[in-house]
Amino acid sequence: MPSPFSPETREALIAGLPAAEPDLLVVGGGITGAGVARDAALRGLSVVLVERTDFAAGTSSRSSKLIHGGVRYLQQGDIGLVREAAAERGTLARIAPHLAVPMRMVMPTFGRGMHMKLAAGLWAFERIATVTDEERHVMWSRDEALAKEPMLAPDQLHGAATFIEYLTDDARLVLANVKSAHAAGAVCVNHAEVASLAPGGGTTEATIRDGLSGATTRVRARVIVNAAGPWVDQVRAQAHGMDGRRLHLTKGIHLVVPHERLPLRHIVVMQATDRRSVFAVPRGAVTYIGTTDTDYGAPADYPDVTAADADYLLEAANRTFAVAPLARADVVAAWAGLRPLLHEEGKAPSEISRRDEIMTDDATGLVSIAGGKLTTYRKMAERVVDQVCDRLGRRGLECRTGDLPLPGGELAATSIAEMTSRLTDRLPRLAPPGAERLVFLYGAAAEELIARGAADPATAEPLTGLPAVPRAELQRALDDEMALTLTDLLERRARVLLFDPRQGVPAVEEAGALAAARLGWDARRTAEEIDRYRRLAASLRDFH
Ligand code: FAD
Repeated sequence: MPSPFSPETREALIAGLPAAEPDLLVVGGGITGAGVARDAALRGLSVVLVERTDFAAGTSSRSSKLIHGGVRYLQQGDIGLVREAAAERGTLARIAPHLAVPMRMVMPTFGRGMHMKLAAGLWAFERIATVTDEERHVMWSRDEALAKEPMLAPDQLHGAATFIEYLTDDARLVLANVKSAHAAGAVCVNHAEVASLAPGGGTTEATIRDGLSGATTRVRARVIVNAAGPWVDQVRAQAHGMDGRRLHLTKGIHLVVPHERLPLRHIVVMQATDRRSVFAVPRGAVTYIGTTDTDYGAPADYPDVTAADADYLLEAANRTFAVAPLARADVVAAWAGLRPLLHEEGKAPSEISRRDEIMTDDATGLVSIAGGKLTTYRKMAERVVDQVCDRLGRRGLECRTGDLPLPGGELAATSIAEMTSRLTDRLPRLAPPGAERLVFLYGAAAEELIARGAADPATAEPLTGLPAVPRAELQRALDDEMALTLTDLLERRARVLLFDPRQGVPAVEEAGALAAARLGWDARRTAEEIDRYRRLAASLRDFH
């Protein structure tokens, strides 16, 4: 049994760093770093992963949360990527079915020509990507489209092309990979920044700063993988290894509105004023709308969402749907993420390739990874770890990440409904989308919430002001998911900052008290945490 993923474990892991001398140090705990750490640990390498803030705090909690089948790459003519995305989607549905939920994507058509062209494109896609019978595309007539997705504006509507995309939760997917890496023996530490890298003598010494205590420590590793996402170039500069291509960051924003303001049944594709495709996704009590693609300068923890960004998406939604016009005042939260793409001279943001690239600096041995997608993270990690094994002279260690379920994924897709009904029976006081939400976020691990509720009925009760969230959920995140701040807990573990229509703010005092009791905060620290969360929530509704 691995030790719990708890604050006490973190202290012990940090204390052990100077003596650890791992094969591999991974810098960054987004999906890329988490995927690499899991793969390497499962192959039997000794691994340390350090994350500057919290696991998934960068781009990997700010994506559109879609596991793409690859249709979009067909439009770009990248057949290799179509095949890889489709295959990876199938793998994820096997190893974590709760985090790969099929949902129909509806592309309204405006005229016979467009309808026929999309039908032919989807037919071609299904020949390349090998799609199962039940997931094949279906073309809808105008009447079918309006009956099945009644929010569509009828003007000029010809029909719709529909196909299956998968929905995930990006931050939970990262955490599942980190927890799996931990269970396989990797040392995974959040709130710990690589402050400097000093290569020399076949190993590299990293200075690690603990973001919570301010203390520094050191670790010496044989290979360093730089998976710092938008910060990849900063980490390369630390190691004086800036050979090769630079990053080109582009920003993408999403707006969240209450589901009752845009009550969709499917993901719907919309066309923005500049003819880019954007979309709206229903998720529990909210619907989110995304995304933009604009140049961005130096990386930031919370990139701004401007009024112009918001208006661009609202305009597309108001043209596509027959609802009372959506305005900025309807937006309950917004998020912005930065795509860590590789610069291509003369290309506009949406033309730059989403392919990943591994950049190795021969002088320092630093292996940097950039580009890529959430969808293909597992394959990308496999390629990186293959290179790491080469460098360590341990070729031939087999990748096992495609076969072993992720934590929570030990649940066949067929038992998702069964688990949902058991949760509904055992935690009866949760308001919608209670049980569905818990199965989506935790999969088979939702069973642990039932067990906690049985052992102490008070923990089966929902939080005041968060009627779909049981107290047991937050307690488990504090005991076994390395939530160390209130923002870790509410933004990236329970995900209420973005997906609760009130951003979890009415429950912040109660959540703060739970965290204080578990983490030993005094009154001042508790008040600071609550205040920081409230200010963050307000800033996500404030457009300049
Ligand atoms: P990150 O998640 O940013 O992780 C890097 C981490 O490194 C950060 O957590 C950071 O804190 C840490 N770090 C930085 N410096 C240091 C240091 N010195 N020491 C320690 N840690 C450090 N992909 C899909 O497949 N489907 C989608 O629907 C999708 N939608 C997207 C929408 C948007 C708007 C964006 C921006 C991207 C989207 N993507 C999507 C792409 C996908 O989200 C990214 O490719 C992926 O999340 C990048 O992950 P990463 O781990 O490389 O970077």
